[in-house]
Amino acid sequence: MYNPKSRKAEEFICHQEILDTLEYAQKNKNNIEIVDKILEKARLKKGLTHREATVLLDCDIPEKVEEIYALAREIKQDYYGNRIVLFAPLYLSNYCVNGCVYCPYHLKNKHIPRKKLSQEEIRQEVEALQDMGHKRLAIESGEDPVNNPIEYILDSIKTIYDVKHKNGSIRRVNVNIAATTVENYKKLHDAGIGTYILFQETYHKESYEKLHPTGPKHNYAYHTEAMDRAMEAGIDDVSLGVLFGLELYRYEFAGLLMHAEHLEAAFGVGPHAISVPRIKHADDIDPDAFDNGIDDDTFAKIVACIRIAAPYVGMIISTRESKECREKLLNLGVSQISGGSKTSVGGYFKPMPDSEDSSQFDVSDRRPLDEVIKWLMELGYLPSFCTSCYRQGRTGDRFMEICKSQQIHNFCQPNAIMTLKEYLEDYASDETKKLGNELISKEVELIENEKIKHVVKENLKKIEQGQRDFKF
Ligand code: SAM
Repeated sequence: MYNPKSRKAEEFICHQEILDTLEYAQKNKNNIEIVDKILEKARLKKGLTHREATVLLDCDIPEKVEEIYALAREIKQDYYGNRIVLFAPLYLSNYCVNGCVYCPYHLKNKHIPRKKLSQEEIRQEVEALQDMGHKRLAIESGEDPVNNPIEYILDSIKTIYDVKHKNGSIRRVNVNIAATTVENYKKLHDAGIGTYILFQETYHKESYEKLHPTGPKHNYAYHTEAMDRAMEAGIDDVSLGVLFGLELYRYEFAGLLMHAEHLEAAFGVGPHAISVPRIKHADDIDPDAFDNGIDDDTFAKIVACIRIAAPYVGMIISTRESKECREKLLNLGVSQISGGSKTSVGGYFKPMPDSEDSSQFDVSDRRPLDEVIKWLMELGYLPSFCTSCYRQGRTGDRFMEICKSQQIHNFCQPNAIMTLKEYLEDYASDETKKLGNELISKEVELIENEKIKHVVKENLKKIEQGQRDFKF
């Protein structure tokens, strides 16, 4: 029944295969010989199967757990260096016809203020986001064919790309909207989106159906096969995720990796990124009502094991998590974070009074973007506002090829340096600017290719003189 190449949800996310995997992992989690053999394979830095990775996830031999963490750090360094990419979510509309029991936008919530941004309001929000320094957005919307049809999403993407405020521009719009048709995915592709993001929420079919009792999202197969339709439509950068806390984390972990294996097997290209959200308090949602919450240590182990199992995949953590938690996870494999986020519809342009608050969930990390940038640099990271890959046609298998051969450094490091410089010139506080310029001086000298180093130095001077948007 289990068939990673199949296009049927229940065959590539096969319940029995997950149960067998969990049993195998429990049986072998402390079998040193097997754990060592898996770690030996992991050290090749080409990834692991869902079964191998689940053994590592379950393993609780302290020295081996330390090895897992050390390896995750090493792999992160090899594939991503010290770069951390920044983005912000932009909530367009919280009208929603679904009944997701963990989400305050569910249809039965009659007291949450419902709001849909007009194109003029989107323009204002985008100007505010550009004034913070953002270049990459993830647009978010509830599912509502009447209030938020695909035409509204397409108009919004166009509006976002068109806003050019001072030196600002949004150069990559990622899209997180409900599962849709091949035809609509084609329209999104033609609109020039970056990544299509869709969280599975849970891979456990029975739980999925209970957690999504009403609305189109109830259909497990339609939701689970969405990435196949997106790929069929030509979107080859897709981003997976589960909402940790809904189901047993071990089940989700195996399902997530099987989903990645499926995309690789069926389309020759795995997910561009994986998000690891945890359920949070929100309006009428109490996270304690869900039995499967995970503590910070388990969360860290999940992140480290994903990094080892899928070395080249971007890993994203949002402001759902606190500064302390994000600091720990950055060190274990996370490569992309949001900063200065608002999870309400509107709120970047004009802060919202509580009575109008339409937040999807509570934000734990509330620091402004400038503070996040400074903090990243103090921790030894290189903040990056790069959006180059997809604009240069490095998506899907082309991206993966360059990434797997670790050639991506030749593009990403210079692009990170140049986009950070833009940020420092246009938006940073004096303190951040000073720290950033010191970091850039060091980082430029580390570029190995002399020709690229020379071009970057020239471009940095041009950025100081007012030119923008250099990229490799
Ligand atoms: N409406 C789209 C869909 O159904 O996939 C996607 C947009 S939704 C705004 C983005 C994600 O927020 C959801 O996929 C879900 O995982 C997450 N989310 C919903 N409620 C949450 C909560 N209480 N805490 C944390 N994340 C939540």
